Amino acid sequence: MSEPRIYNPEMECMNPDEKKALQGERLRKTVKHVYDNVTLYRERMDAKGVSPDDIQSVDDLKLLPFTEKTDLRDTFPFGLFAVPKEQIVRIQGSSGTTGKPIVSGYTENDVKIWTEMVARAMAGIGADEKDIIQVCYGYGLFTGGLGAHQGATEVGAMVIPMSSGNTQRQIMMMQELGSTILCCTPSYAAYLGESIRDAGLVPKKDIKLRAGLFGAEPWTEAMRQHIEETLGIDARDIYGLTEIAGPGVAFECQEKNGAHINEDHVIAEIIDPVTEEQLPYGTAGELVFTTITKEGMPMLRYRTHDICTLYNDKCKCGRTTIRMGRITGRTDDMIIVRGVNVFPSQIETVLVKTAGVVPHYQLIVDRVNNSDTLEVKVEMTEEIFAQTDSLGEMQRLQKYIRDQIKSVVGILTKVTITAPKSLPRSEGKAKRVIDNRKL
Ligand code: ADP
Ligand code: ZN
Repeated sequence: MSEPRIYNPEMECMNPDEKKALQGERLRKTVKHVYDNVTLYRERMDAKGVSPDDIQSVDDLKLLPFTEKTDLRDTFPFGLFAVPKEQIVRIQGSSGTTGKPIVSGYTENDVKIWTEMVARAMAGIGADEKDIIQVCYGYGLFTGGLGAHQGATEVGAMVIPMSSGNTQRQIMMMQELGSTILCCTPSYAAYLGESIRDAGLVPKKDIKLRAGLFGAEPWTEAMRQHIEETLGIDARDIYGLTEIAGPGVAFECQEKNGAHINEDHVIAEIIDPVTEEQLPYGTAGELVFTTITKEGMPMLRYRTHDICTLYNDKCKCGRTTIRMGRITGRTDDMIIVRGVNVFPSQIETVLVKTAGVVPHYQLIVDRVNNSDTLEVKVEMTEEIFAQTDSLGEMQRLQKYIRDQIKSVVGILTKVTITAPKSLPRSEGKAKRVIDNRKL
Protein backbone atom coordinates (compact mmCIF):
# COMPACT_ATOMS: atom_id res chain seq x y z
CA MET A 1 0.00 0.00 0.00
CA SER A 2 1.41 3.36 -1.04
CA GLU A 3 0.75 6.97 -0.13
CA PRO A 4 -1.51 9.11 -2.33
CA ARG A 5 0.52 10.79 -5.07
CA ILE A 6 0.14 13.24 -7.93
CA TYR A 7 0.44 11.40 -11.24
CA ASN A 8 1.30 14.35 -13.48
CA PRO A 9 2.42 17.31 -11.32
CA GLU A 10 3.33 19.38 -14.37
CA MET A 11 -0.32 19.39 -15.49
CA GLU A 12 -2.11 18.99 -12.16
CA CYS A 13 -0.17 21.71 -10.31
CA MET A 14 0.16 24.50 -12.88
CA ASN A 15 -0.06 28.07 -11.66
CA PRO A 16 -3.28 29.83 -12.73
CA ASP A 17 -1.62 31.95 -15.45
CA GLU A 18 0.12 28.99 -17.03
CA LYS A 19 -3.13 27.04 -16.90
CA LYS A 20 -5.14 29.81 -18.53
CA ALA A 21 -2.55 30.17 -21.31
CA LEU A 22 -2.50 26.43 -21.99
CA GLN A 23 -6.29 26.21 -22.01
CA GLY A 24 -6.53 29.19 -24.36
CA GLU A 25 -4.07 27.66 -26.78
CA ARG A 26 -5.82 24.30 -26.78
CA LEU A 27 -9.25 25.90 -27.05
CA ARG A 28 -8.20 27.88 -30.14
CA LYS A 29 -6.98 24.68 -31.77
CA THR A 30 -10.13 22.76 -30.87
CA VAL A 31 -12.48 25.43 -32.17
CA LYS A 32 -10.63 25.59 -35.48
CA HIS A 33 -10.62 21.78 -35.70
CA VAL A 34 -14.38 21.43 -35.21
CA TYR A 35 -15.25 24.44 -37.38
CA ASP A 36 -13.33 22.89 -40.26
CA ASN A 37 -14.56 19.32 -39.74
CA VAL A 38 -17.99 19.18 -38.12
CA THR A 39 -20.99 20.59 -39.97
CA LEU A 40 -23.13 21.04 -36.85
CA TYR A 41 -20.54 23.22 -35.10
CA ARG A 42 -19.83 25.27 -38.22
CA GLU A 43 -23.54 25.94 -38.77
CA ARG A 44 -24.13 26.81 -35.12
CA MET A 45 -21.17 29.18 -35.01
CA ASP A 46 -22.15 30.82 -38.30
CA ALA A 47 -25.69 31.27 -37.01
CA LYS A 48 -24.31 33.05 -33.93
CA GLY A 49 -21.97 35.11 -36.06
CA VAL A 50 -18.90 33.69 -34.31
CA SER A 51 -15.79 32.78 -36.27
CA PRO A 52 -12.88 30.69 -34.98
CA ASP A 53 -10.77 33.88 -34.87
CA ASP A 54 -13.13 35.36 -32.28
CA ILE A 55 -12.06 32.68 -29.82
CA GLN A 56 -8.67 33.69 -28.47
CA SER A 57 -8.81 32.75 -24.79
CA VAL A 58 -10.92 31.02 -22.17
CA ASP A 59 -12.72 34.33 -21.62
CA ASP A 60 -14.23 34.00 -25.12
CA LEU A 61 -15.80 30.66 -24.32
CA LYS A 62 -19.14 32.31 -23.62
CA LEU A 63 -19.43 33.30 -27.29
CA LEU A 64 -19.61 29.66 -28.37
CA PRO A 65 -22.87 27.76 -28.90
CA PHE A 66 -23.93 25.00 -26.50
CA THR A 67 -24.14 21.31 -27.35
CA GLU A 68 -26.86 19.03 -25.97
CA LYS A 69 -27.40 15.29 -25.71
CA THR A 70 -30.08 15.63 -28.40
CA ASP A 71 -27.34 16.81 -30.78
CA LEU A 72 -25.58 13.48 -30.30
CA ARG A 73 -28.79 11.59 -30.95
CA ASP A 74 -29.70 13.67 -33.99
CA THR A 75 -26.28 13.13 -35.57
CA PHE A 76 -26.02 9.47 -34.48
CA PRO A 77 -23.77 7.68 -35.15
CA PHE A 78 -20.92 9.59 -36.82
CA GLY A 79 -22.21 13.13 -37.38
CA LEU A 80 -20.08 14.78 -34.68
CA PHE A 81 -16.85 12.97 -35.52
CA ALA A 82 -14.14 15.44 -36.41
CA VAL A 83 -11.66 13.00 -37.97
CA PRO A 84 -11.99 10.36 -40.72
CA LYS A 85 -13.38 7.06 -39.44
CA GLU A 86 -10.05 5.36 -40.13
CA GLN A 87 -8.56 7.29 -37.20
CA ILE A 88 -11.22 6.15 -34.73
CA VAL A 89 -10.01 3.17 -32.71
CA ARG A 90 -12.81 2.88 -30.14
CA ILE A 91 -16.52 3.41 -29.72
CA GLN A 92 -18.13 3.75 -26.30
CA GLY A 93 -21.75 4.45 -25.56
CA SER A 94 -23.87 5.92 -22.84
CA SER A 95 -25.54 3.46 -20.52
CA GLY A 96 -28.80 5.00 -21.53
CA THR A 97 -30.12 5.96 -18.11
CA THR A 98 -31.67 9.03 -19.68
CA GLY A 99 -33.10 7.69 -22.93
CA LYS A 100 -31.85 6.43 -26.27
CA PRO A 101 -28.17 5.45 -26.47
CA ILE A 102 -25.51 7.75 -27.86
CA VAL A 103 -21.99 6.93 -28.95
CA SER A 104 -18.64 8.61 -28.74
CA GLY A 105 -15.60 7.89 -30.93
CA TYR A 106 -11.99 7.97 -29.72
CA THR A 107 -8.74 8.26 -31.62
CA GLU A 108 -5.69 6.44 -30.27
CA ASN A 109 -4.61 9.64 -28.56
CA ASP A 110 -8.09 10.17 -27.07
CA VAL A 111 -7.88 6.73 -25.43
CA LYS A 112 -4.41 7.57 -24.12
CA ILE A 113 -5.61 10.82 -22.57
CA TRP A 114 -8.66 9.18 -21.02
CA THR A 115 -6.41 6.45 -19.60
CA GLU A 116 -4.19 9.05 -17.98
CA MET A 117 -7.16 10.87 -16.51
CA VAL A 118 -8.19 7.68 -14.68
CA ALA A 119 -4.54 6.95 -13.75
CA ARG A 120 -4.47 10.33 -11.99
CA ALA A 121 -7.47 9.24 -9.91
CA MET A 122 -5.77 5.91 -9.20
CA ALA A 123 -2.52 7.63 -8.13
CA GLY A 124 -4.65 9.85 -5.90
CA ILE A 125 -5.63 6.81 -3.83
CA GLY A 126 -2.03 5.60 -3.85
CA ALA A 127 -2.67 2.77 -6.33
CA ASP A 128 0.42 1.15 -7.84
CA GLU A 129 1.86 -2.23 -8.83
CA LYS A 130 1.30 -3.55 -5.30
CA ASP A 131 -2.44 -3.19 -5.68
CA ILE A 132 -5.04 -5.65 -6.84
CA ILE A 133 -7.89 -3.71 -8.39
CA GLN A 134 -11.29 -5.31 -8.75
CA VAL A 135 -13.37 -3.59 -11.40
CA CYS A 136 -17.08 -4.31 -11.04
CA TYR A 137 -18.31 -1.59 -13.33
CA GLY A 138 -19.90 -3.10 -16.42
CA TYR A 139 -17.54 -3.77 -19.32
CA GLY A 140 -18.79 -2.99 -22.79
CA LEU A 141 -20.11 0.19 -24.34
CA PHE A 142 -20.51 1.72 -20.88
CA THR A 143 -17.31 3.65 -20.11
CA GLY A 144 -17.07 2.52 -16.47
CA GLY A 145 -15.50 -0.92 -16.90
CA LEU A 146 -12.93 -0.24 -19.58
CA GLY A 147 -12.19 3.21 -18.21
CA ALA A 148 -11.30 1.94 -14.74
CA HIS A 149 -9.45 -1.01 -16.30
CA GLN A 150 -7.22 1.19 -18.45
CA GLY A 151 -6.35 3.52 -15.57
CA ALA A 152 -5.59 0.62 -13.24
CA THR A 153 -3.32 -0.96 -15.85
CA GLU A 154 -1.57 2.37 -16.40
CA VAL A 155 -0.47 2.54 -12.74
CA GLY A 156 0.80 -1.04 -12.97
CA ALA A 157 -1.75 -2.70 -10.72
CA MET A 158 -3.04 -6.26 -11.09
CA VAL A 159 -6.52 -5.84 -12.54
CA ILE A 160 -9.44 -8.22 -12.03
CA PRO A 161 -11.95 -7.41 -14.80
CA MET A 162 -15.01 -8.81 -13.02
CA SER A 163 -17.55 -6.55 -14.71
CA SER A 164 -20.87 -6.17 -12.88
CA GLY A 165 -23.10 -8.79 -11.35
CA ASN A 166 -22.85 -12.07 -9.48
CA THR A 167 -22.22 -10.71 -6.01
CA GLN A 168 -21.25 -14.06 -4.47
CA ARG A 169 -18.54 -14.53 -7.07
CA GLN A 170 -17.35 -10.94 -6.58
CA ILE A 171 -16.93 -11.62 -2.87
CA MET A 172 -15.24 -14.97 -3.42
CA MET A 173 -12.70 -13.46 -5.83
CA MET A 174 -12.14 -10.51 -3.54
CA GLN A 175 -11.39 -12.87 -0.69
CA GLU A 176 -9.28 -15.40 -2.60
CA LEU A 177 -7.23 -12.91 -4.62
CA GLY A 178 -6.99 -10.32 -1.85
CA SER A 179 -8.32 -7.33 -3.81
CA THR A 180 -7.14 -4.04 -2.32
CA ILE A 181 -9.09 -1.54 -4.41
CA LEU A 182 -12.70 -1.65 -5.54
CA CYS A 183 -14.17 0.20 -8.53
CA CYS A 184 -17.97 0.25 -8.92
CA THR A 185 -21.04 2.40 -8.41
CA PRO A 186 -21.55 3.64 -4.83
CA SER A 187 -24.91 1.85 -4.58
CA TYR A 188 -23.26 -1.44 -5.52
CA ALA A 189 -20.42 -0.79 -3.05
CA ALA A 190 -23.01 -0.38 -0.30
CA TYR A 191 -24.69 -3.59 -1.37
CA LEU A 192 -21.38 -5.47 -1.48
CA GLY A 193 -20.64 -4.18 2.02
CA GLU A 194 -23.87 -5.61 3.39
CA SER A 195 -23.48 -8.88 1.53
CA ILE A 196 -19.97 -9.27 2.95
CA ARG A 197 -21.30 -8.68 6.43
CA ASP A 198 -24.23 -11.09 5.87
CA ALA A 199 -21.73 -13.74 4.78
CA GLY A 200 -20.07 -13.38 8.18
CA LEU A 201 -16.88 -11.97 6.69
CA VAL A 202 -14.94 -9.26 8.49
CA PRO A 203 -13.54 -6.30 6.51
CA LYS A 204 -9.78 -5.75 6.99
CA LYS A 205 -9.46 -9.37 8.15
CA ASP A 206 -11.16 -11.65 5.63
CA ILE A 207 -11.34 -8.88 3.02
CA LYS A 208 -8.24 -6.86 2.18
CA LEU A 209 -9.90 -3.84 0.54
CA ARG A 210 -8.37 -0.51 1.57
CA ALA A 211 -9.86 1.96 -0.92
CA GLY A 212 -12.42 2.43 -3.64
CA LEU A 213 -13.18 4.71 -6.56
CA PHE A 214 -16.91 5.12 -6.85
CA GLY A 215 -18.93 7.04 -9.42
CA ALA A 216 -21.27 6.92 -12.41
CA GLU A 217 -24.23 7.99 -10.24
CA PRO A 218 -24.86 10.65 -7.61
CA TRP A 219 -24.09 9.86 -3.98
CA THR A 220 -23.93 11.81 -0.76
CA GLU A 221 -21.46 12.40 2.07
CA ALA A 222 -23.67 10.25 4.29
CA MET A 223 -23.44 7.42 1.76
CA ARG A 224 -19.65 7.80 1.75
CA GLN A 225 -19.54 7.32 5.51
CA HIS A 226 -21.79 4.30 5.26
CA ILE A 227 -19.56 2.66 2.63
CA GLU A 228 -16.36 3.53 4.49
CA GLU A 229 -17.73 1.97 7.66
CA THR A 230 -19.22 -1.18 6.18
CA LEU A 231 -16.22 -1.97 3.98
CA GLY A 232 -13.53 -0.45 6.21
CA ILE A 233 -12.07 1.55 3.31
CA ASP A 234 -11.20 5.01 2.01
CA ALA A 235 -14.03 5.82 -0.45
CA ARG A 236 -13.39 8.39 -3.17
CA ASP A 237 -15.57 9.96 -5.80
CA ILE A 238 -14.78 9.75 -9.51
CA TYR A 239 -16.88 11.61 -12.06
CA GLY A 240 -17.23 11.42 -15.79
CA LEU A 241 -19.53 11.10 -18.74
CA THR A 242 -19.35 9.36 -22.09
CA GLU A 243 -19.67 12.54 -24.11
CA ILE A 244 -16.48 13.98 -22.59
CA ALA A 245 -14.37 10.82 -22.08
CA GLY A 246 -15.82 8.55 -19.40
CA PRO A 247 -14.77 8.27 -15.74
CA GLY A 248 -11.80 10.42 -14.76
CA VAL A 249 -13.03 13.81 -15.96
CA ALA A 250 -12.73 14.66 -12.25
CA PHE A 251 -11.67 12.75 -9.13
CA GLU A 252 -11.23 13.32 -5.42
CA CYS A 253 -7.88 13.64 -3.67
CA GLN A 254 -7.26 12.64 -0.03
CA GLU A 255 -8.78 15.94 1.17
CA LYS A 256 -12.21 14.76 -0.05
CA ASN A 257 -13.36 18.31 -0.60
CA GLY A 258 -14.63 18.07 -4.15
CA ALA A 259 -13.34 16.36 -7.29
CA HIS A 260 -10.34 17.89 -9.11
CA ILE A 261 -11.20 18.53 -12.74
CA ASN A 262 -8.54 17.57 -15.30
CA GLU A 263 -8.36 21.08 -16.64
CA ASP A 264 -5.55 20.48 -19.12
CA HIS A 265 -8.11 18.42 -21.09
CA VAL A 266 -11.45 20.05 -20.32
CA ILE A 267 -12.73 23.50 -19.44
CA ALA A 268 -15.58 23.54 -16.94
CA GLU A 269 -18.20 26.25 -16.55
CA ILE A 270 -21.26 26.60 -14.36
CA ILE A 271 -24.27 28.23 -15.95
CA ASP A 272 -27.73 29.21 -14.91
CA PRO A 273 -29.78 26.53 -16.69
CA VAL A 274 -32.53 28.99 -17.53
CA THR A 275 -30.69 32.18 -18.58
CA GLU A 276 -27.63 30.22 -19.79
CA GLU A 277 -25.35 32.88 -18.25
CA GLN A 278 -22.03 31.85 -16.66
CA LEU A 279 -22.09 31.81 -12.86
CA PRO A 280 -19.13 32.54 -10.54
CA TYR A 281 -17.19 29.96 -8.53
CA GLY A 282 -19.03 29.00 -5.37
CA THR A 283 -22.51 29.20 -6.96
CA ALA A 284 -24.53 26.11 -7.80
CA GLY A 285 -25.72 25.66 -11.36
CA GLU A 286 -25.47 23.40 -14.39
CA LEU A 287 -22.07 22.00 -15.25
CA VAL A 288 -20.87 22.58 -18.83
CA PHE A 289 -17.73 21.08 -20.37
CA THR A 290 -15.63 21.92 -23.40
CA THR A 291 -12.98 19.39 -24.41
CA ILE A 292 -9.68 20.91 -25.47
CA THR A 293 -7.55 17.90 -26.45
CA LYS A 294 -10.09 15.47 -27.87
CA GLU A 295 -9.62 14.69 -31.57
CA GLY A 296 -12.30 12.11 -32.42
CA MET A 297 -15.39 13.77 -31.06
CA PRO A 298 -14.63 17.12 -29.44
CA MET A 299 -17.42 18.80 -27.49
CA LEU A 300 -18.09 22.52 -27.34
CA ARG A 301 -19.89 23.71 -24.22
CA TYR A 302 -21.63 20.40 -23.58
CA ARG A 303 -24.53 20.80 -21.17
CA THR A 304 -24.33 17.93 -18.70
CA HIS A 305 -27.57 18.77 -16.86
CA ASP A 306 -25.66 17.85 -13.70
CA ILE A 307 -26.06 20.39 -10.91
CA CYS A 308 -23.05 21.25 -8.79
CA THR A 309 -20.75 24.04 -7.60
CA LEU A 310 -17.17 24.74 -8.72
CA TYR A 311 -14.45 25.76 -6.25
CA ASN A 312 -11.16 27.41 -7.14
CA ASP A 313 -9.68 27.89 -3.67
CA LYS A 314 -6.38 26.18 -2.95
CA CYS A 315 -6.43 22.50 -2.10
CA LYS A 316 -4.01 21.16 0.53
CA CYS A 317 -3.03 18.24 -1.73
CA GLY A 318 -0.98 20.56 -3.96
CA ARG A 319 -3.08 20.27 -7.11
CA THR A 320 -4.14 23.62 -8.52
CA THR A 321 -7.00 22.35 -10.64
CA ILE A 322 -10.47 23.60 -9.72
CA ARG A 323 -12.83 21.22 -7.95
CA MET A 324 -16.46 20.31 -8.45
CA GLY A 325 -18.63 19.65 -5.43
CA ARG A 326 -20.90 16.65 -5.38
CA ILE A 327 -23.61 16.42 -7.98
CA THR A 328 -26.68 17.37 -5.99
CA GLY A 329 -29.05 16.40 -8.78
CA ARG A 330 -29.69 16.60 -12.48
CA THR A 331 -31.85 19.26 -14.02
CA ASP A 332 -33.76 16.33 -15.52
CA ASP A 333 -34.10 14.05 -12.46
CA MET A 334 -35.30 16.69 -10.11
CA ILE A 335 -38.83 15.75 -9.22
CA ILE A 336 -41.35 18.45 -8.67
CA VAL A 337 -43.87 17.29 -6.13
CA ARG A 338 -46.75 19.65 -5.44
CA GLY A 339 -44.57 22.46 -6.72
CA VAL A 340 -41.61 21.64 -4.48
CA ASN A 341 -38.28 20.70 -6.05
CA VAL A 342 -37.08 17.39 -4.63
CA PHE A 343 -33.72 15.75 -5.30
CA PRO A 344 -33.12 12.08 -4.49
CA SER A 345 -29.88 13.16 -2.73
CA GLN A 346 -31.86 15.03 -0.06
CA ILE A 347 -33.83 11.92 0.77
CA GLU A 348 -30.73 9.71 0.63
CA THR A 349 -29.07 11.89 3.27
CA VAL A 350 -31.97 11.30 5.64
CA LEU A 351 -32.10 7.55 5.01
CA VAL A 352 -28.38 6.88 5.41
CA LYS A 353 -28.43 8.64 8.78
CA THR A 354 -31.38 6.62 10.06
CA ALA A 355 -30.66 3.51 12.14
CA GLY A 356 -32.83 0.54 11.26
CA VAL A 357 -32.88 1.02 7.48
CA VAL A 358 -30.23 0.48 4.78
CA PRO A 359 -29.69 2.96 1.94
CA HIS A 360 -31.58 0.97 -0.69
CA TYR A 361 -34.52 3.08 -1.65
CA GLN A 362 -36.90 4.06 -4.40
CA LEU A 363 -38.98 7.16 -4.82
CA ILE A 364 -42.34 6.61 -6.41
CA VAL A 365 -44.18 9.64 -7.69
CA ASP A 366 -47.81 9.52 -8.69
CA ARG A 367 -50.82 11.73 -9.08
CA VAL A 368 -53.99 10.94 -7.16
CA ASN A 369 -57.08 13.19 -7.48
CA ASN A 370 -54.93 15.83 -9.20
CA SER A 371 -52.49 15.95 -6.35
CA ASP A 372 -48.91 14.65 -6.47
CA THR A 373 -47.87 11.91 -4.09
CA LEU A 374 -44.39 10.78 -3.19
CA GLU A 375 -43.79 7.39 -1.67
CA VAL A 376 -40.39 6.57 -0.23
CA LYS A 377 -39.69 2.85 -0.18
CA VAL A 378 -36.71 1.80 1.90
CA GLU A 379 -35.45 -1.52 3.19
CA MET A 380 -35.13 -2.33 6.89
CA THR A 381 -31.99 -3.91 8.31
CA GLU A 382 -31.76 -7.64 9.04
CA GLU A 383 -31.60 -6.84 12.79
CA ILE A 384 -34.90 -4.99 12.79
CA PHE A 385 -36.43 -7.70 10.64
CA ALA A 386 -35.45 -10.32 13.23
CA GLN A 387 -37.06 -8.50 16.14
CA THR A 388 -40.28 -9.99 17.46
CA ASP A 389 -42.10 -6.75 18.25
CA SER A 390 -41.14 -5.30 14.89
CA LEU A 391 -44.59 -3.86 14.09
CA GLY A 392 -44.45 -1.09 16.67
CA GLU A 393 -40.84 -0.45 15.83
CA MET A 394 -41.73 -0.18 12.14
CA GLN A 395 -44.44 2.41 12.76
CA ARG A 396 -42.06 4.43 14.91
CA LEU A 397 -39.42 4.26 12.17
CA GLN A 398 -41.82 5.26 9.41
CA LYS A 399 -43.00 8.27 11.37
CA TYR A 400 -39.43 9.25 12.19
CA ILE A 401 -38.34 9.12 8.54
CA ARG A 402 -41.44 10.98 7.39
CA ASP A 403 -40.76 13.76 9.92
CA GLN A 404 -37.11 13.99 8.94
CA ILE A 405 -37.92 14.26 5.24
CA LYS A 406 -40.57 16.85 6.03
CA SER A 407 -38.03 18.99 7.83
CA VAL A 408 -35.35 18.63 5.11
CA VAL A 409 -37.44 18.75 1.93
CA GLY A 410 -40.58 20.43 3.20
CA ILE A 411 -43.17 17.98 1.93
CA LEU A 412 -45.14 15.15 3.42
CA THR A 413 -44.32 11.72 2.01
CA LYS A 414 -45.59 8.23 2.49
CA VAL A 415 -42.82 6.07 3.91
CA THR A 416 -42.92 2.33 3.33
CA ILE A 417 -40.37 0.12 5.02
CA THR A 418 -39.89 -3.09 3.11
CA ALA A 419 -38.24 -6.40 3.96
CA PRO A 420 -34.46 -6.75 3.62
CA LYS A 421 -33.33 -7.21 -0.01
CA SER A 422 -36.83 -6.75 -1.40
CA LEU A 423 -36.17 -3.75 -3.65
CA PRO A 424 -34.58 -4.36 -7.06
CA ARG A 425 -30.76 -4.26 -7.07
CA SER A 426 -28.90 -2.52 -9.76
CA GLU A 427 -25.44 -3.74 -10.60
CA GLY A 428 -24.89 -0.65 -12.69
CA LYS A 429 -26.55 2.64 -11.96
CA ALA A 430 -29.30 2.58 -9.37
CA LYS A 431 -32.75 3.64 -10.57
CA ARG A 432 -34.01 5.77 -7.72
CA VAL A 433 -37.05 7.52 -9.17
CA ILE A 434 -40.17 6.01 -10.67
CA ASP A 435 -42.52 8.68 -11.90
CA ASN A 436 -45.96 7.26 -12.69
CA ARG A 437 -47.60 10.60 -13.36
CA LYS A 438 -49.10 10.96 -16.80
CA LEU A 439 -47.86 14.36 -17.82
P1 ADP B 1 -26.07 8.28 -19.01
O1 ADP B 1 -26.15 8.06 -17.53
O2 ADP B 1 -26.71 9.55 -19.44
O3 ADP B 1 -26.49 7.10 -19.80
P2 ADP B 1 -23.15 8.13 -18.74
O4 ADP B 1 -23.10 6.68 -18.47
O5 ADP B 1 -22.10 8.73 -19.59
O6 ADP B 1 -24.53 8.50 -19.41
O7 ADP B 1 -23.23 8.86 -17.37
C1 ADP B 1 -22.86 10.19 -17.14
C2 ADP B 1 -23.65 10.76 -16.01
O8 ADP B 1 -23.54 9.94 -14.83
C3 ADP B 1 -23.17 12.11 -15.56
O9 ADP B 1 -23.64 13.15 -16.38
C4 ADP B 1 -23.72 12.18 -14.15
O10 ADP B 1 -25.09 12.51 -14.15
C5 ADP B 1 -23.58 10.76 -13.67
N1 ADP B 1 -22.33 10.60 -12.89
C6 ADP B 1 -21.17 10.05 -13.29
N2 ADP B 1 -20.27 10.07 -12.29
C7 ADP B 1 -20.87 10.65 -11.22
C8 ADP B 1 -20.45 10.98 -9.88
N3 ADP B 1 -19.26 10.68 -9.43
N4 ADP B 1 -21.36 11.61 -9.11
C9 ADP B 1 -22.58 11.91 -9.56
N5 ADP B 1 -23.03 11.62 -10.78
C10 ADP B 1 -22.18 11.01 -11.61
ZN1 ZN C 1 -6.81 18.13 -3.63
